Amino acid sequence: MLENAGLIDIDENGPTTLEPVMYHRCRSMNAFDAIYCSKCSMALNQQAVLKVEQSTDEAKRSDEYQMLVERREIW
Ligand SMILES: [Zn+2]
Repeated sequence: MLENAGLIDIDENGPTTLEPVMYHRCRSMNAFDAIYCSKCSMALNQQAVLKVEQSTDEAKRSDEYQMLVERREIW
């Protein structure tokens, strides 16, 4: 995560990082600190992607997921 800190450029001339950013995949504008795109709900930064992967991992370990997997294996 430390390498991400270098991407935030603190500009004393103006709060440039507070401006909306365009998400290149769907060209919609999102708040500078948005984690997910408001239009397509895709993760806007690597941290968000990691978070999604983490919760997917957690879900896979849960009993509920195991039940779903077992149900599918009955086919
Ligand atoms: Zn989008």
